[in-house]
Formats: sequence, C-alpha cells, structure tokens
Amino acid sequence: MTGSDFVMNNELTIRLGFFFSIFAAMALWEIIAPRRSLHTSKAVRWSNNLGLVFFNTLVLRLVFPAAAVGMALFAIEQGWGLFNFIVAPLWAAVLASVLVLDFFIWLQHVMVHAVPVLWRVHRVHHADLDFDVTTGSRFHPLEILLSMLIKFAVILLLGPPVLAVVLFEVILNATAMFNHSNVRIHPTIDRFLRLVVVTPDMHRVHHSIEEDETNSNFGFNLPWWDRLFGTYRAQPRAGHEAMTIGIRTFREDKWCSWLPGIIAIPFVGKVQDYTINRRRQ
Ligand SMILES: [Zn+2]
Ligand SMILES: [Zn+2]
Repeated sequence: MTGSDFVMNNELTIRLGFFFSIFAAMALWEIIAPRRSLHTSKAVRWSNNLGLVFFNTLVLRLVFPAAAVGMALFAIEQGWGLFNFIVAPLWAAVLASVLVLDFFIWLQHVMVHAVPVLWRVHRVHHADLDFDVTTGSRFHPLEILLSMLIKFAVILLLGPPVLAVVLFEVILNATAMFNHSNVRIHPTIDRFLRLVVVTPDMHRVHHSIEEDETNSNFGFNLPWWDRLFGTYRAQPRAGHEAMTIGIRTFREDKWCSWLPGIIAIPFVGKVQDYTINRRRQ
C-alpha cells in the first residue's frame, strides 16, 4: 500500500486525529501561556463556538457528502483539470496543488471582506469578542458551504491528487487553530515563524476592531500572499494586549457569543459602513 492509499483509506481518522490533538495542544498552551486576558465568559463562548462547528460539520456532510476528496476523485475519473491532463511527478503535483488551493482560500477571504453581501456572512467570524482556538473554526454555515463550492471549482480546474486535497485540508485546519489561539510566543520566534506560517500575532491584527487593520493579513496558512499582494501588516497600533477584538456593529453577547444570534448575524441590519460600500451623503 502506498502512502497515498493509506491517506485515502484513513481520511476521517487522520482528520479527526489531527483536529483533536492540535485542539487539545493549543487549548493547553492557552492556559499555560495566554497572550491576552479574555473579556467574555470562556464557558459560554466555547460551548457556542464548538456547537457551531458541530452543526457546520453536519450541514456540510449532508449537503456535500463526498466533499472535496470526492470532487478530486471525480476530476481524476473524468480526466478533468490540469494535473489529470499533464504528467507531473506526484510530489510536484501535491506541492503545486497545496499552494494553489491556499492562494484561492486567501483570495476568497479577501473577497468576503470586499463584497458587502459576503461580508454580512463573514462577520460571524469577526464578531467573536475574544480570539482563541475556537475562533479558528467559527464560521457561518453559509460561508462553510461557499468555501466548499470554491474549492470544488479550483479542484475541477486543477485536477489535484487526492493526497494533496486531504493534506491541504488537514494543514489548513491545523494552522487555523494555531493562528487563532490565544498563546504567547516570544517575539523573536514569532518573527522567524511568520516567514513560513501565519502566527497568532499576525492573524490577531486581522481581528482588530480598527477597519484598516481588519483589512490586512488575510492568510490562514501561508503568510506569503499578504506580503506579495500588499495586505501585510506586522502589528496592531494599540499593541496585542490593549487592542480591541471584534467589529463595531456587534458588541453584545446576544449576537457575539450565543448561537441563535451568531446564526442570525448575516441577516441583521444594513451594511453601510464597510470599505467598499461606504456612502457619504
Ligand atoms: Zn476575515
Ligand atoms: Zn480569523
């Protein structure tokens, strides 16, 4: 059995294994060396954020049972996509596919900030009043479905090896938990680390209440896209301890911490105050 077969046959076990072990490691690290003190009840936030993750997993499995791996297999069967068309060594196809998928997730993230109706949905991720390991998986079900559709489109054009899709999803899941966690990392180590991966200090800038800071550091995994396309910002103006996390429009626990409010956020109020559709009458 090759490495690829092993990954394919044990996909769910690998995914869950990585999820739970990295979650536990980051949760423990947050207790031992927290970066900031939390502002709202951890018990309430965690139970509602994790409730949302559980709900999203169910919705995703129900709507797209075959998921991204199924789409990659479909593309291989049909001979669709670049890597089912050209002959490339497996390692090169895997490396290139992971890079391309990561770029499109970055681009999607920029677009959900730029397009007002998508920002409505993405506000759920930003309305968390604290920033910790559970924030990393806190997305509205509509955004989870949108992400999957975009991944499907990229997979159909790219024709990546199944191994690349599983690898990408496991890595993204792991780095999202890492870079949302409320952990203290020595500034010197952080400086080196953020040359290859988005660190918590780098992504926390993106969760600032200050709009210009929110509109920077869109990467969830590789830090290079932000540097390459001009959206990189090293630190928040107020510093990591003093900066305010969240968005101005939603500051109450009812919207920010409890599931019914979180789910309702996309449908509440008007978006008139955000970058692309700001109106000055
Ligand atoms: Zn965002
Ligand atoms: Zn985030």
